[in-house]
Amino acid sequence: MARVRSRDTKPELRVRQALHGKGYRYRLFRRDLPGTPDLVFPGRQCVIFVHGCFWHGHKNCKKATIPKTRHMFWKAKILANQTRDQAVLKKLQAAGWRTLVAWECETRDMDRLTKRLTEFLESGN
Ligand SMILES: [Zn+2]
Repeated sequence: MARVRSRDTKPELRVRQALHGKGYRYRLFRRDLPGTPDLVFPGRQCVIFVHGCFWHGHKNCKKATIPKTRHMFWKAKILANQTRDQAVLKKLQAAGWRTLVAWECETRDMDRLTKRLTEFLESGN
């Protein structure tokens, strides 16, 4: 399996909720784009990924602590995810997309989340 992906996780739903409240329109899981972004805004050439802190190795995040058991296994796995994430973002950017990663731990505070998403979406226009 190329990537651990579960649809409609709580952080994803919170991101959608934040954008929905602001009236943004988007498409979900465009498989024709690298990395199958969680949200795509075709008119704005923007994509948003919602990343789980553990699986995607959020730097300096408490939720991204690598377990002591099978430490090397997890470390390698998460490093591979990070490398793939970086490659995906580069590909998208090279194709003219603007990218934002919303981390799981950043989706708790709805006001801050909404602000960050809105600033990202409006900054290119
Ligand atoms: Zn985090």
